[in-house]
Amino acid sequence: MEKNQEFTVTIEDMSEDGSGIGKLDGYIWFIKDTVIGDQVRAKAMKMKKSYGFARLMEVITPSAFRTEPRCPAARPCGGCQLQAMKYEEQLAFKERKIKNNLMRIGGFKEEEIPMFPIIGMEDPWRYRNKAQFPFGMNKNGEIITGFYAGRTHDIIENEDCLLGVQENRGILEIIKAFMKEYRIRPYDEKSHQGLVRHALIRKGFKSSEIMVCLVINGKRLPHGEELVKRLSAVSGMTSISYSINEEKTNVIMGKEIVNLYGPGYITDSISDVTYQISPLSFYQVNPVQTEKLYGTALEYAGLTGKETVWDLYCGIGTISLFLAQKAKKVYGVEIVPQAIEDARRNARLNGMENVEFFVGKAEEVLPEQYEKNQIYADVIVVDPPRKGCDQMCLDTILKMRPERVVYVSCDSATLARDLRYLVDGGYEVKKVRGCDMFPQGGHCETVVKLERVKRK
Ligand code: SAH
Repeated sequence: MEKNQEFTVTIEDMSEDGSGIGKLDGYIWFIKDTVIGDQVRAKAMKMKKSYGFARLMEVITPSAFRTEPRCPAARPCGGCQLQAMKYEEQLAFKERKIKNNLMRIGGFKEEEIPMFPIIGMEDPWRYRNKAQFPFGMNKNGEIITGFYAGRTHDIIENEDCLLGVQENRGILEIIKAFMKEYRIRPYDEKSHQGLVRHALIRKGFKSSEIMVCLVINGKRLPHGEELVKRLSAVSGMTSISYSINEEKTNVIMGKEIVNLYGPGYITDSISDVTYQISPLSFYQVNPVQTEKLYGTALEYAGLTGKETVWDLYCGIGTISLFLAQKAKKVYGVEIVPQAIEDARRNARLNGMENVEFFVGKAEEVLPEQYEKNQIYADVIVVDPPRKGCDQMCLDTILKMRPERVVYVSCDSATLARDLRYLVDGGYEVKKVRGCDMFPQGGHCETVVKLERVKRK
């Protein structure tokens, strides 16, 4: 096979990131935008020793799992990977992925994995409470906004992403018209010229409060008062600000925020817990599923009101505050100091006095507290980033011997590795359940309940 050569293949499997996989004479092809069961014509693009990447040219026989993507930009846009797959099939795919990783990487036998049905969404669209739209210019010199194409920073024009809220479109129209009228140029990455880089829009799903934060390549926003006048007329508009980012960087938000209108944050709640969210705060992007995910974590923690609980990798304390409603005491640990500031503020906001937060690495704070201060735990909850838990952290958990460990994971491969370690150290996997936080996308969260094996 040579570059640009076309071939016909049947898609048999799907990669971690949602690309279809087809095999030809033992050679593996990754083909984006295909679905398991499709027979396709594809064009060879890039080839390695044992695998290559090909471009979908034509679906010859569509898979029974295939559906027409709802979004016209589904293919070029880098946002969604699975839109061409029926939603039930997406869920089945994600559940299989979790199970396969536990077997392949964790070395668990199928009968050792107590899988509970994946938690999907009733309506898997418009679930995101946050969007960051880049601004740019098209060939005709018109201001455009939308999303980056996969792998590049070309802007795919799209003001109505179907994962985002309906209000985004009107807000973007206002910003674009404002820029045009006052001749404010969008930022150009190549020349590092122009002012408006991104618009961050957030909406509290329960509160209906809306926040807009413009990210600019400059220290001030000319005619900001006029933009405020127009945006504040949008129903629900609560906070308008801009963020200064003059760096040549892919990082979207700048560190400094200048407030133009409102209190500088919006308020929202998940279940009975209220949160204040400022432009730089981390906050889960799918609030409907977050409530279900953390509800499951809470259920698996099995709290009666007497327990001491540690929430490691606690972020802004979303899980900690959930747990604090049912526990005697909750300790949270998180590496980002601003997140802990948010966590402490949110605890106060909810009148919760039985939570305490530590800034630091879980793998340092936990052993330190255990060895120096003889703290202990009935339950430990972990929600680490994709790379999973540090071994030092797992070792300390094994030394502390809590009754239960609840593992919330955004990557089932590292989850599988860590579960094996905990199981070899004296724990038993009691429940495994997927929760789909990112419908149409490739990622999936998993919650696992582990119990300490009682010595006979
Ligand atoms: N449960 C949290 C989100 C967890 S995401 C919430 O709902 O807000 C994982 C978190 O782990 C991130 O906030 C990240 O900053 C933090 N983190 C990454 N490495 C860490 C480490 N070594 N120790 C403690 N926290 C860490």
